[in-house]
Amino acid sequence: SAKSEGRAQIAFATEEFLKDAAMQKRLQRDLAYAIEDEQLHVAFQPIIDLSTGSIAYFESLLRWTHPQFGPIRPDNFIALAEASGDIIPIGRFVLREALANLRHWPESIGVTVNVSALQLGDDMLVSQVGQLLETHEIDPARLTLEITESVLVRNVHSEKIVNEFQAMGVAVALDDFGTGYASMGYLRDHTFEKIKIDKSFVSAMTKPGNSRAIVRAICNLGRDLGALIVAEGIESEADLATTRAAGCTHGQGYLFAKPMPSADVVTFIRTWQRETHAERRAAHAAP
Ligand code: C2E
Ligand code: MG
Ligand code: MG
Ligand code: MG
Repeated sequence: SAKSEGRAQIAFATEEFLKDAAMQKRLQRDLAYAIEDEQLHVAFQPIIDLSTGSIAYFESLLRWTHPQFGPIRPDNFIALAEASGDIIPIGRFVLREALANLRHWPESIGVTVNVSALQLGDDMLVSQVGQLLETHEIDPARLTLEITESVLVRNVHSEKIVNEFQAMGVAVALDDFGTGYASMGYLRDHTFEKIKIDKSFVSAMTKPGNSRAIVRAICNLGRDLGALIVAEGIESEADLATTRAAGCTHGQGYLFAKPMPSADVVTFIRTWQRETHAERRAAHAAP
């Protein structure tokens, strides 16, 4: 039947298949229609304050459900959207979705949005973000833009743009820290409100090797620079214990929750808050 054929094709959409040159060309073409055809949506993943156990932010993560190949991970199409320029309207879509959703969350919770190199080079970005914040009457401090080192490498004006956002009250996070280029140069030239340690370090911390010392050093550095330190990819209680012991202030990962559809967020927040409060009460009641 058509249905089982569809399923067979979705099962066929392996990473290898998606990375094939002809396939990449096809995906790039299809992506141009993805917004208007409502194939894109934004999932949200909580970032937890490790000192209180409460939700501090949700990261906005783009999702594409291809009509023929099913769900496709952003790592397989963000670069294509950058090359075609479609990342500009797509990035705008993510910002709109993130801020529209944020309005339904408690004021203590913020949202983060990933920004790519081409987007950061878009002259309109700063004013668009300003306009969105105004329209939705959102405190700029509740928005964080996540920027990777590769984005900074590819944009000579990054320092100015980062400064403009910070002057507006928007926070900026350095994403995937440790995996990129001349990390120290970027920490010297920019002030970041947050540094996100890449999950490759976090998952290696519970194994023999240098990761634990490196993460501890990044945490000390972050503290001296006045930046929050977010550990990405916390998957186990052991990951949580080691990142917390190393001095990470925040954590994100499957142990807490996987990225979820926007419709689930409010219920998730309510359940999470009820549970953390119960845990705290239990901890205080303990003799
Ligand atoms: P990122 O910004 O570093 O986002 C974190 C990635 O780690 C996400 O992958 C998330 O689903 C995944 N993750 C979170 N917790 C865990 C965990 O415990 N274990 C493992 N194995 N993975 C975890 P995702 O959603 O596939 O996104 C991949 C990358 O695509 C992002 O990395 C970001 O660089 C990019 N991206 C996603 N959405 C957007 C967007 O709206 N705009 C731009 N420019 N890039 C985006
Ligand atoms: Mg990110
Ligand atoms: Mg990251
Ligand atoms: Mg990443």
